[in-house]
Amino acid sequence: MQVNADVSLLNKDSRSLTRAFRDYNWPMEWVYLSPHFDDVALSCGGLVWQQAQAGQRVTVWTLCAGAVPQGPLSEFAQSLHARWGTEEASAPAQRAAEDIASCQQMGAGWQHFDVPDCIYRQGPDGEFLYASEAALNGDLHPGEARLIQQLARQLADRLPKRARLVCPLAVGSHVDHQLVRAAAERLKRRLWYYADYPYVLKHAESLEQMAQQGWLGRVMPISSAGLAAWQAAVAAHASQISSFWPDLDAMRAAMAQYCAQNGGLKLWKKVRKAP
Ligand SMILES: [Zn+2]
Repeated sequence: MQVNADVSLLNKDSRSLTRAFRDYNWPMEWVYLSPHFDDVALSCGGLVWQQAQAGQRVTVWTLCAGAVPQGPLSEFAQSLHARWGTEEASAPAQRAAEDIASCQQMGAGWQHFDVPDCIYRQGPDGEFLYASEAALNGDLHPGEARLIQQLARQLADRLPKRARLVCPLAVGSHVDHQLVRAAAERLKRRLWYYADYPYVLKHAESLEQMAQQGWLGRVMPISSAGLAAWQAAVAAHASQISSFWPDLDAMRAAMAQYCAQNGGLKLWKKVRKAP
C-alpha cells in the first residue's frame, strides 16, 4: 500500500519528507527491538504503523519477555507486582497479551524472547542483580556480559539478512534498555536507534549533544492516522497506563504533544566517530 499524498503531515522539512516517502514506498523489512513489552509502542508506535501501512514488513521483538523464575522474589520485585495489580505468575503473560493487541494496532508482527525482566535476574549465588529503584537506572551488572553474548547470538540467528534493525538508545539508562543496545551493537550491523519514551522527556539534553558526537537524526513524518494508531497501540498496554498518566485522555494528549514537538518521530544513526 502506498502512503496517500494528501495525508496530513506534521513535518515541514521537505527534504526529509522526500526521503521518508521514498523509504515508506520501498519494500523493506524492519525489526524493532523492545526491551520491555511497551517500549516500541511508546517510543515509535506511529512510525511502525506508517511503515506497515506503506507495505513494509515490520516486527517488534521484545527481549525481556521471559517468565517469572521459580523461587522467591526480591522484596523490590514483590512491591512492583503489588503496584501493577497483577498476580505474580501472570504478570508477563498478561503483558504479552497486551503486547500482541498493541502490535495489531500498529500492523506489526511480534516475537517474544525469554530473558526475564531485570528485577528477576540473579547472579550465580542467587543474589538479585537489580533489587532497588536506583539499580534499575545504574550500570549494567558485570555478571551480565554472558547474557549480552547469548542475546547477540540469538539475534544473529533470527534476524533476516536484509532487515533494518532499530534499537533503543537507552536514554535514561534503564539496565534492560542498556542490555538490548549492548547486544544489538555486538552484531556489527548497521543500526538505527530510537529515543526511549517517556525517559527522553527528562533527558532531552542527551539528544541535544548527539549531533556533535557524530550522530544523524532523521525525522520520519507521522500522519494524523498514524498518531491515532500510536495512541491506540499505547492504550493496549492497559496495565501500564497508570504508571505514566492519570487516564487515557492524558496519555493521548501526551503522545500528540510528543509527536508534534518532533514533527513526527526522529530515528538516529551513527554516521561518524565522535571527534
Ligand atoms: Zn522499557
